[in-house]
Amino acid sequence: MSDIVSLTLTEVRDKLAAGDIKAEEAVAACLDRIEATEPKIKAILHLQAAKALKTAKALDAAGPDPAKRLWGVPILVKDAICVADAPTTCASKILENFVPFYDAACIRKLKDAGAVILGKANLDEFAMGSSTENSAYQITANPWDLSRVPGGSSGGSAAAVAAGQCFAALGTDTGGSIRQPAAFCGTVGIKPTYGRVSRYGLVAYGSSLDQIGPLARTADDAAAMLTVISGHDAKDSTSAPREVPDFEKAIAGAADLSGLTIGLPDEYWGEGVDDEVREACRQAMDTAKALGATVVPVSLPHTPYAVATYYIVAMAEASSNLARFDGVRYGRRAPQAKTLEELYELSRSEGFGAEVRRRIIIGTYVLSAGYYDAYYRKAAQVRRLIRQDFLDAYSKCDVVCGPTSPFAAFPIGKMSGDPLQMYLSDIFTISLNLAGLPGLSMPVGLGKDSGLPIGMQLFGPAFDETAILRTAKVLGNALPKLPQPAGLA
Ligand code: GLN
Repeated sequence: MSDIVSLTLTEVRDKLAAGDIKAEEAVAACLDRIEATEPKIKAILHLQAAKALKTAKALDAAGPDPAKRLWGVPILVKDAICVADAPTTCASKILENFVPFYDAACIRKLKDAGAVILGKANLDEFAMGSSTENSAYQITANPWDLSRVPGGSSGGSAAAVAAGQCFAALGTDTGGSIRQPAAFCGTVGIKPTYGRVSRYGLVAYGSSLDQIGPLARTADDAAAMLTVISGHDAKDSTSAPREVPDFEKAIAGAADLSGLTIGLPDEYWGEGVDDEVREACRQAMDTAKALGATVVPVSLPHTPYAVATYYIVAMAEASSNLARFDGVRYGRRAPQAKTLEELYELSRSEGFGAEVRRRIIIGTYVLSAGYYDAYYRKAAQVRRLIRQDFLDAYSKCDVVCGPTSPFAAFPIGKMSGDPLQMYLSDIFTISLNLAGLPGLSMPVGLGKDSGLPIGMQLFGPAFDETAILRTAKVLGNALPKLPQPAGLA
């Protein structure tokens, strides 16, 4: 890797601001790295190299601007978020030719902060999946082992950050899609509190669960990105009118964890978790204790119901959100259709992949008269209980901690034929979305058996992203740094 792409986001940003690196050099370094690594990992669906270089040249001509926090920093965006004049496919055939004419709110903020958008990253179709194998276009490989998945659904974003293709990337997290790929690829990923980041311009999957957030190499990098993209937005009625702290400044002086109480939920540390995952997370907890933290047991007793609850709520919302892709107003239109019914049927069955169709069918079923009470209403009730579990836990601790995934990155193809198995693997990430709370995944080392990155999660109380970012920063500084991803050596 060149010197520039091995810098962290905050390092490169400071050099750009000081004039030590030109914006064009930073963009060119990323483009070189993309050229070298992309044939192996296939993280990007649309690269706008010429546009990024042009933007960088214009920035250089004007000179660094201290008011622009990410001046000249190249980033990638999950292809479920609208970037004006760039294709936004959601990795689906149904949106093959969709080019939005507007920027999502978070993209507007990034551009205003001087960031340079390199292109759009691969994902599971409509963000439905845990491996990025559900993309209609390509399968992204894990930079640590090219025969394995990068996680999902923000697998392109995570693989790109791990491979040094960009300094940070945006992902979205409906049930773990920022945190789980971050864990599989050895990066930091944060799902903000529901309402922290505007969803305006994000193609909706499960509207009451979706949040946009950054994937980056360090907690500081994630904090810098989150500060820029957060904030109330009148265009998103669920966006929270809350003050946004400067997260990077808020964690700047953090050196130890004294005074912090970390709760370990029994349900997250027991059966079903691979030994190497539990061991790496335990070691990180030992480090946390050495840094002054107090570790206490807590319980999230409704965890066993989380997968069923999540998949009912998420699929119900998806079936409703995806009804707009009817071949008339949005998306692909089947040319051979002769009647209106045929138009709907053909456009949708040709445009959507198998997993998306499965979810629309199940989602429609759980919302249908006669089944609504048994499924959707029940799930909505259990969701309250899951949220209450967290609130009870926070009466005993400041942050909650556990593994991000029960195992490290799995081989491509291993679970793609078994959707239920894939859904079950989300057990540790989905409760947080149901509760609307913030969570972060950070790398805690390489698994002793697999040699692959292991991710650990930190959950915080509502709107206290600072608590988890600070903990991740202090722990991250104390734990051994990960080497370069082995698959690209
Ligand atoms: N794996 C989960 C799902 O398929 C989460 C996806 C996400 O967070 N976008 O629904």
